[in-house]
Amino acid sequence: MIISARTLYKLLLIAICGFTFLSACKKDGMGGELSDEEKNNDSFTRYEGKFLDELWKLNPDWATSVGYHKYDSVLVLPSEQKKKLTDFAKSNLDSLSHYPQNELSASNRMDFNLIQNYLRKTEWTYGSLKAYEWDPTSYNIIGGFAYILNEKYAPLSERLQSFYEKMAAIPAYYKDAQKLVKNPVPELTDLAIDQMTGGVDVIEKDFIDSLTKSSVPDPKQKLMRERAKASAAVIRNFTAWLKTIRSDKGRSFRLGKSLYDEKFNYEIESALTSQQMFNAAVERKKFLHKEMIKLSKELWPKYMGDKKIPSDSLAIVEDIIGALSLKHVEPAQFQSAIEKQIPKLSAFVKEKDLLTMDPSKPLVVRREPAYMAGVAGASVSSPGPYEKNGNTYYNVGSLDGWDKDRAESYLREYNDYTLQILNIHEAIPGHYTQLVYANKAPSLIKSVLGNGAMVEGWAVYGEEMMLDAGYGGNEPEMRLMWCKWNLRTVCNAILDYSVHAGSMTREQALKLLTKEAFQQQAEAEGKWKRVSVSSVQLTSYFTGYHEIKLLREEYKKKMADKYRLKEFNEKFLSYGSAPVKYIKEAMLTNEVEKPGDKKADQPEEKNEKKAPKAEEKKPAKTDSGAQ
Ligand code: ZN
Ligand code: ZN
Repeated sequence: MIISARTLYKLLLIAICGFTFLSACKKDGMGGELSDEEKNNDSFTRYEGKFLDELWKLNPDWATSVGYHKYDSVLVLPSEQKKKLTDFAKSNLDSLSHYPQNELSASNRMDFNLIQNYLRKTEWTYGSLKAYEWDPTSYNIIGGFAYILNEKYAPLSERLQSFYEKMAAIPAYYKDAQKLVKNPVPELTDLAIDQMTGGVDVIEKDFIDSLTKSSVPDPKQKLMRERAKASAAVIRNFTAWLKTIRSDKGRSFRLGKSLYDEKFNYEIESALTSQQMFNAAVERKKFLHKEMIKLSKELWPKYMGDKKIPSDSLAIVEDIIGALSLKHVEPAQFQSAIEKQIPKLSAFVKEKDLLTMDPSKPLVVRREPAYMAGVAGASVSSPGPYEKNGNTYYNVGSLDGWDKDRAESYLREYNDYTLQILNIHEAIPGHYTQLVYANKAPSLIKSVLGNGAMVEGWAVYGEEMMLDAGYGGNEPEMRLMWCKWNLRTVCNAILDYSVHAGSMTREQALKLLTKEAFQQQAEAEGKWKRVSVSSVQLTSYFTGYHEIKLLREEYKKKMADKYRLKEFNEKFLSYGSAPVKYIKEAMLTNEVEKPGDKKADQPEEKNEKKAPKAEEKKPAKTDSGAQ
């Protein structure tokens, strides 16, 4: 996943000025009136600016997380947010209907679709899904406070002041929340209690620690400390109240088929239905098993010598995977092993001419900052768009302080083979490369309402593309371990659908993950826990990947002997983090750039894609583990 720290507010101002400047230029340049088409595109762009500011006003926490800091000190009461967002959706769907969608530029048309989808999803969220009744984790507001405290976007005293003002609404917030929660899902109630019990440290401890280090005058500090104490007490009271209403007879954690289908449509924005996605995943599992059995039989003598080959073919695969997993670095070398791979990946992409890498945007590898620590693995952080000297970081976790068994089990999972796949997925040509391209796509909407399935799908697609180009020297070991990694993505999708749209039991799920996806018991149990507190997000990796591959096939056919992989990759990435189905529409229709399409002459805005909203509330700093 991608961590964001940005100054969207600044960007917005610059963007709006940029647009005004542009339309003025155009008038002068052409010495006449704007065409209807240009007028439509210009007014649509102005509408987008208005839409975003209103959006942030109603979602201050989300605004803070994308680096828009105008509303940092605001905490909106849940019932007020529900009412205002519902009204916002209704009135904006109406405004949107006045724009002639088909006469907008290709880029604006994608934005139109993204905004419309967001608004419809909002109506559905409050009107049909109603998670505010049964999911108490939606009232865990600590993430927003943690962001203000940890991200150094403004001087400490300023951020402490926002924190302090924001806390003022906490008592009213939880009073309101208690009125909304009804018959909550027990698993989600437990999760909310855990998260908030642990998270309250941010308010009670971290905030107060930062206060002592700040220049805030003593009398003011006293007031701030008192408010923090009172706020922590309110949060504890809320979790205590949750314990009293928690019941095993609460709503089932399974979403149910019809809500699942709808959520899938709004969040994945796929051309496929959830059933079609599931069928494709089942097919893919069969295909991978065949591949893996073939590769494992081939590798058997090399790793097992004369040992008798099991009669159960999946057991052969399990044994070979077990043997290959023993090849891994020592805990102390974990970070440096990752660092050493990055330049090798760049060199390979260049050598095989898979896509152009922008040399002016290097990836800086660093040790994970303390406040992100706790999870090993790796993640990408990108700077605010107008922080001229801002770097894109590859945060690498360390295994310092891990006990021996835990480190060993982790390193077997991230063995010599999968560690390379992890780097491909996170960095090159995965998330980091996609991010650099997305930053060149001139649309705030595409970065704010960006599509998680496209982002994750690209990273998964990138792994296979590298192996197909010969990365890893075409070794069967590398291919087998990638198959296992790919199978995880596939089984995530099967699991999610079977559990939420069907009735798969815990026992069946564990069997699928351990026997058919070759996962360790602990990993499988963790996955069961995750699927019982989330829905749809687990399908994003496979769905995006599957759709990109389908698109590439069609594109190949269309281009015939003019098809080049590099050109496909670059063109695909050029649209920003938009849903694959819209990119497909743009890539497969031979469209001449319309004059209103500002792609070429807009000031370069560096937008960042966002992880899907569902992930936002349960921050997972590392993507590798998050899959
Ligand atoms: Zn070992
Ligand atoms: Zn990822």
